[in-house]
Amino acid sequence: MNENPPKLPEPFKTKMVEKITLRSREEREELVEKTGYNVFMLRAEDVFIDLLTDSGTSAMSDRQWAGMIETTQAYAGSQSYYSLEKAMKDIFGFKYLVPVHQGRAAENILFSTIVSPGCYIPNNTHFDTTEANIMRNKSVPVNFVIEDAYNSTKVMPFKGNMDIKKLENFIREKTPEKIPLIMITVTNNSIGGQPVSMRNIKEVSRIAKKYGIPFFMDACRFAENCYFIKQRENGYRNKTMKEITRELFSYADGCTFSGKKEALTNIGGMLCTNNKELYEKFRNLTIVIEGFVTYGGLACRELEAMARGLYEVLDEDYQAYRHRQIEYLAKLLRDGDVPIVEPPGGHAIFVEAKKFLPHIPPEQFPAQALTVQLYIESGVRAVEIGSSCFGKVDKMGRFIPAKMELMRLAIPRRTYTDNHLRYVAECLIRMYKKRKQIRGLRRVLTAELLGHFTARFEQIN
Ligand SMILES: *Cc1c(COP(=O)(O)O)cnc(C)c1O
Repeated sequence: MNENPPKLPEPFKTKMVEKITLRSREEREELVEKTGYNVFMLRAEDVFIDLLTDSGTSAMSDRQWAGMIETTQAYAGSQSYYSLEKAMKDIFGFKYLVPVHQGRAAENILFSTIVSPGCYIPNNTHFDTTEANIMRNKSVPVNFVIEDAYNSTKVMPFKGNMDIKKLENFIREKTPEKIPLIMITVTNNSIGGQPVSMRNIKEVSRIAKKYGIPFFMDACRFAENCYFIKQRENGYRNKTMKEITRELFSYADGCTFSGKKEALTNIGGMLCTNNKELYEKFRNLTIVIEGFVTYGGLACRELEAMARGLYEVLDEDYQAYRHRQIEYLAKLLRDGDVPIVEPPGGHAIFVEAKKFLPHIPPEQFPAQALTVQLYIESGVRAVEIGSSCFGKVDKMGRFIPAKMELMRLAIPRRTYTDNHLRYVAECLIRMYKKRKQIRGLRRVLTAELLGHFTARFEQIN
């Protein structure tokens, strides 16, 4: 009997390659200093392995590229729109969609339509762009993820879940009139790409119905979430990815979606709903700010690539490879004692900067310092998900740190091999051994909304 079948390799082979270059250490030090110690400001060509984000960085398939060439380019009524509509209805099961250029445009249209000043929008955990788009509409984003989500060593199958009691108490306290929308983010990106169970989604949906509040999903990583459900939740092992996906969306009144994640494209997004009245409002605003509704601010070929990508992302061989590759990197880091959030999520590994750099206090941005140092040591670009991203300044000007200080290594889809990830792990493990030498940062510039993209820092001596 064979108890350990061989681990399967990538379910694809290479058809085209892109050269990557490792700059010298001296160059990397100089380059990152010039950016104000903010890796968002680096040029991509100066990055060796780019794990800044899994957004818009997927390698597209030959079929997606072929579809992009085959489809017609038209201002109105391109066949690519109908391909996308068909795929969305078949996979998501919503009645209406507007294509948009990316996820945050869907958020902008949704909140501009549904939110009036002084409202509250609950979510398990809002993504940064979601939070910013709510605040821009003078409302308050609130997070009710289960408390265990912040316990980075506790292994649970569905750490991304909403705390149902907290949600319901909040609705009672604020009254449903003040809550025009309930959201849930699958997977829960901001706390580490942790999945949400079908049961939890069903419960949130029940509460939303009970209080007559529309329920939308932030569905950026729906397929990774559904694969986790298939692996971890009772009763789903023998269901197909498509069956699970259809069930997931059946509990919601609509969704925002970024094609840059799980349509396996480099740009694109959708705003979907079953509600005709809402759809008509979405449509009218889309025409004003994005473009006509059969292209939504995109070239028509991008819609075709999304339509095809939505099917490819449901392929179980692909999802198995995707999850295996993330686990591969997690295991290397774990074996090298690097503190990571457990269990790993669906699209990234999160390194715990508080444990990696206990000598750097939150006001010196330990996760940012770690991210900068990783670039200097290895040419690898990660991203800070800590106090630069989620820290606040109160009315008295006091700094309020984020709950967690994380460095995210996001894994682009179908882009890097295990060998690339092994290099990342080796460099991080080497850094961990001499971690005491890493210094904190002082923030010298930040904008009010999404300030982490353009913030500048100085190294503290
Ligand atoms: C990426 C992302 C968004 C925003 O999508 P963009 O395409 O980057 O604008 C919103 N929510 C979540 C959970 C995301 O991961």
